[in-house]
Amino acid sequence: MNSFHFELIHCSKKSRARVGRIHTPHGIIDTPNFVAVGTNGTVKALDNTLLHDIGLQLMFCNTYHLLLQPGTQVVKQAGGLHQFIHRKLPIITDSGGFQVFSLAYGSVADELKSRGTKKQEGSVLKITEEGVLFRSYRNGAKVMLTPESSIQAQKDLGADIIIPFDELPPYHIAPDALKTSLDRTHRWEKRSLDAHLQNRQGQAMYGVIHGGINPEMRQASCDFLTKLDFDGFAIGGSMGKNKDEMHQLLSFTLPLLPPEKPNHLLGIGDLASIERCVPLGIDTFDSSYPTRAARHGILFTAQGGLNITKAEYATQFSPIEKECPCPTCARFTLAYLHHLFKAHELTSMSLATAHNLYFMVQLMQKYRNHILEDLL
Ligand SMILES: [Zn+2]
Repeated sequence: MNSFHFELIHCSKKSRARVGRIHTPHGIIDTPNFVAVGTNGTVKALDNTLLHDIGLQLMFCNTYHLLLQPGTQVVKQAGGLHQFIHRKLPIITDSGGFQVFSLAYGSVADELKSRGTKKQEGSVLKITEEGVLFRSYRNGAKVMLTPESSIQAQKDLGADIIIPFDELPPYHIAPDALKTSLDRTHRWEKRSLDAHLQNRQGQAMYGVIHGGINPEMRQASCDFLTKLDFDGFAIGGSMGKNKDEMHQLLSFTLPLLPPEKPNHLLGIGDLASIERCVPLGIDTFDSSYPTRAARHGILFTAQGGLNITKAEYATQFSPIEKECPCPTCARFTLAYLHHLFKAHELTSMSLATAHNLYFMVQLMQKYRNHILEDLL
């Protein structure tokens, strides 16, 4: 097994954008890159061999969901997540904190945009220094999630990159409450790291920078977490109420991170945000947006998204994009896809998802090439 490390290949002369390579036990992730969300161990509507063929180098799976179904013990028995879901390439898992706190604060997931989760039925029973006690939405059982149990679950899953347990305060929060939350998050992240370092198991851990939209607290979070032995850093918490606020926040935060370590922007990966955040030096983005859009019939093209259910596509006997080498465009026409969507055939979702993910792979390759040429 190769150990985890980040290779910085080129820093743009025009912006903070950079091209690099994250080396993991399951192969390389070229950066900047898009990370597909496969909550339950699969990207919705696409099996993992197809995902492999499309060339997506990193997949994001959710510990919360896998913990409740099928249970991380089952995945461990199967030989780990890679083996269980038949994926040869790298995987990242989160801590479960995001989903648990979405239960507690209700609208947080909506405020922060989706990270591949639907709002689940269930409830948080108690939040203490120890961790969070919640009721499973699947069977009503009480589950205690702590920094140590989250890390144990992520050890059982065996992803290449794992995330410490953190608290996710809502967007609308008073400064003193945010400070209390931030301090606890830092203690939880430290406990997570300590648990991880007892048995690295070839995994890397990214610290999660918090602090909401408060620059002083973002600074404090960077100061605290970058002193610890994390392999990279994810940016989490509230990113603000619009793209301008997010841009401002990231412009401030990214220079506070060590350039020799990789970074990840949690849960943001719509096309407009990627375009604005690559020049700031973000290395990886995860989002369920391209796959969710596909299932709703929004197909990505160089001219923007098209809605395949519109009547104008009923007799267009050409591919989504003539130049697209994806398996969908190589074989099927807009007219056929339009028909499948109108007939509510499940195949429509697979074909649309394959195209949108292929589009993301090509788009990120284009960004890397432009950075290498100092064009952005
Ligand atoms: Zn295509």
